[in-house]
Parts: sequence; structure tokens; C-alpha cells
Amino acid sequence: MSRQVYINGQLFPQEEATISVFDHGLLYGDGVFEGLRAYGGKIFRLEQHVRRLYESAKAICLEIPLSETEMCQAHNETIAANDIQDGYIRSIVTRGAGTLGLDPNRCSNPQVIIIADAITLYPDELYEKGLEIITASTIRNHPAALSPRIKSLNYLNNILAKMEGLQAGCIEALMLNHKGEIAECTGDNIFLVRDGVLMTPPMDAGILGGVTRDAVVELAAEAGIEVQKVTLTRHDLFIADECFLTGTAAEVIPVVKVDDRTIGSGKPGPVTLDLKERFHKLTRS
Ligand code: PMP
Repeated sequence: MSRQVYINGQLFPQEEATISVFDHGLLYGDGVFEGLRAYGGKIFRLEQHVRRLYESAKAICLEIPLSETEMCQAHNETIAANDIQDGYIRSIVTRGAGTLGLDPNRCSNPQVIIIADAITLYPDELYEKGLEIITASTIRNHPAALSPRIKSLNYLNNILAKMEGLQAGCIEALMLNHKGEIAECTGDNIFLVRDGVLMTPPMDAGILGGVTRDAVVELAAEAGIEVQKVTLTRHDLFIADECFLTGTAAEVIPVVKVDDRTIGSGKPGPVTLDLKERFHKLTRS
């Protein structure tokens, strides 16, 4: 089905939605993006995603030619134009077309692009049985090189780790930071449960501040579950009772094996299932 793609305030049929080959988003990955999801015609935590987009842009000195409110409206217009009830939205802001050199000052027009499409979900079976993941040897970007808090168009760090996962037959892979601590997965944040306490790495582990991660932390607090944002190592993962991942596309998905070691009982645990259910209710309410 042909989609209507938003580019700089206008909607184009997808075949005509094009940008310059001189755009530094393409030439250098110089730009930022977001991945959002609509449930029942409403975009989940739209303002929070847009806020993160603007923070990513600010961190790379990229000025977005729209206010945050206008950006939210543009997202809503795009899902409406595509008649999307439940779907996935990809928003991109590139540095714009420039010269073949690196200099971002020679790029004039940032391109604001919003694509709304159907969502590809992980198979149901994985939510019931849980995922097996591996630890990638590719570490997460050093925060002093490229902060993982920036959702930039250069996702090669994550893609290289994802390739390691896929080679091992896993759809997700765990990434450690430069200190050997647990950071996150290639496109998801990670949580562990031990003795009823929910734990997730803090922002300074070098992670993307996930919107789903925040929602799950809130849901856990509501459920009376203690939440700790603490430094975690693979040792903590090996001795955890439960593990799950969070992300816009994945929502809450249990993990039952890491590096061929069974986590807890080897089945999705009660805290995971409770939070998965609460997240489901929150998004579908
Ligand atoms: N970490 C990384 C590296 C990601 O790309 C994503 C997905 N955007 C997440 C975590 C999860 O973030 P969110 O819950 O906002 O989708």
C-alpha cells in the first residue's frame, strides 16, 4: 500500500518522497531520528518522543525548523493521512544537503521526514517462551565518542552488534559499555529481577533513555515493585531470577537465556509477566 510521507510540511506519495543524495544524513549519518508507535489511532507518549528527538538534535547542534508542538501536530497529521490506527512511525531530521565535505555549516536545509507504516512485530511465541540473546563483542559507543543518548542516524554500532546476534541465531544482542558493564541491547533497554527487586542500568551506563523503559519504571512503582537504576554486570544477569527487554517495537519481552545460560527458571517470570500485562493495558487504554 502506498504511504503518504511527510517531508518539510508536505505529504508526498512514498514513490515521490525523496531527498538529495548530498544530504549529510545519507553521506555521514548526520541527523537524528525517533521510532514511535500508535495504538488505537493515538501515538503513545508522543511528547516524550518528540522531546528526545529535540534533545538528540540539540546535542549535535542541529536546529529543527519547527516547534515541538508543531512537530507533534505533524506526527498526528501523518498518521491521520495514512489512516493508521495501530502502526509504527519513523521520524527523521537530517542535516540537509551540503557539499561532499564534513562541514555541517555548509548544509542549509534540515529535512524533516515522518513515515507512518504498519508495524512488524516479533512472533507471539517469543513473548510466551522468552528470547535467547547473546552478549555481543561489539561494545556500545563510548559516551565521549558518540553519546548513546543521541538517537543519531548513525546506528552502525548497534547494527554490528545485531549482526553478531543474528549470526548466533538471536534477534537481540546484549551490549556492554567500555567498562564492561551492562548497557542495553541493540534496540531495546534491559531489566533484571532479583529477589523481587527490579533493576536496570542507569543513564550513565551509556544507554538511550528509552520511553518504554520510563513507562515500565512508572508501572513498577505503581505496582509496589522496588526499582533500582544501578550498575549491572553479566554476573548480575547470570544470577538474575528474571530478565526482560523494553522498546517501542518490542514493548516488554522476556529473556530466558543469555550466552546459552538459563536465566532463573528458564521461563518468563511473574514480575516480567505482570509488567508486560500492565504495559499492554497502558498502551491499549
Ligand atoms: N536502546 C536503543 C539503542 C534503541 O534504539 C531503542 C529503541 N529506540 C531503545 C533502547 C528503546 O527505546 P524506546 O523504548 O524509546 O523505544
